Amino acid sequence: MRVVPSQLVLLGHPVAHSLSPAFHNAALRSAGLPLEYRALDVAPAQLADVVRALVARGAAGNVTVPHKRAVAALCDQLTEVARRAGAVNTWWTDDGRLFGDNTDVGGFNFTVEQLLGRRPANQRVALLGAGGAAAAVLVAAERWPNSYVRVHARTAGRAVDLCEPFGEHAHAVRTLDEALDGATLVINSTPVGMTDDLMPLAVERLPRKAAAIDLVYRRGGTAWVRALRARKRVAVDGLPMLIEQGALAFERWFGGRADREAMWNAVR
Ligand code: NAP
Repeated sequence: MRVVPSQLVLLGHPVAHSLSPAFHNAALRSAGLPLEYRALDVAPAQLADVVRALVARGAAGNVTVPHKRAVAALCDQLTEVARRAGAVNTWWTDDGRLFGDNTDVGGFNFTVEQLLGRRPANQRVALLGAGGAAAAVLVAAERWPNSYVRVHARTAGRAVDLCEPFGEHAHAVRTLDEALDGATLVINSTPVGMTDDLMPLAVERLPRKAAAIDLVYRRGGTAWVRALRARKRVAVDGLPMLIEQGALAFERWFGGRADREAMWNAVR
């Protein structure tokens, strides 16, 4: 158990703020904690000053787009997972020092285990997108036995840079076909489908044996996952990962177990 935070703040962009306050406040109420979790829009130029002020007040919280890498750089200490991802989504303060973790990795692993019904192994992963969420996928997947990830992104250089620290576990590929060839798991880590019904990949292009994970989440699910399930394909959207990363963050801040049922009820 760490020092109880004075306040809980999500730092990020308004579009990414939609569901987190609802389920975090549900978990706080369930635990009888007299705190309110709130979202704070922060411009990149203001981030360092805002974080400094929050550290001085003994706050804790989360970070979302576009600040995950910047907050990692501001931390005095990172967990191994956050260091590997180069990004922080969960932070807290202790004695004037800023600590950072990345619970997206645990949230993603939880989602994969639920989807497959077992611990992942022997996976050929096609990963669409090469941003912060993609980094969490690579950190998780590098520990899966006999598995590798092929990353396809519209800015090819970003995929190359993302894969570089992961050696044989991750390769940037030029075409979508190369990424999809023989894939057992196809993961969307682009924001496509977040605010509309666009799909990151036409449903008929999902390889025959592949399951799909859309990291994008929306109340009511994403159009891509709905369309895949209508064709009896195994697919899940980003909501289980979102709730689990939030529950793991709660457990970092307070030590006790987060009430996942209350969190789910807040977003259904
Ligand atoms: P990010 O760092 O901005 O990276 C986004 C990636 O998607 C980049 O490679 C970007 O390419 C690409 N991209 C953006 N728009 C695209 C488009 N229209 N078509 C094709 N590629 C596009 O974002 P992020 O933090 O990785 O987040 C990505 C998504 O994952 C968001 O929707 C976020 O909400 C979701 N997410 C979910 C969870 C969860 O718990 N379920 C956790 C984290 C993130 P460029 O470099 O060319 O822009």
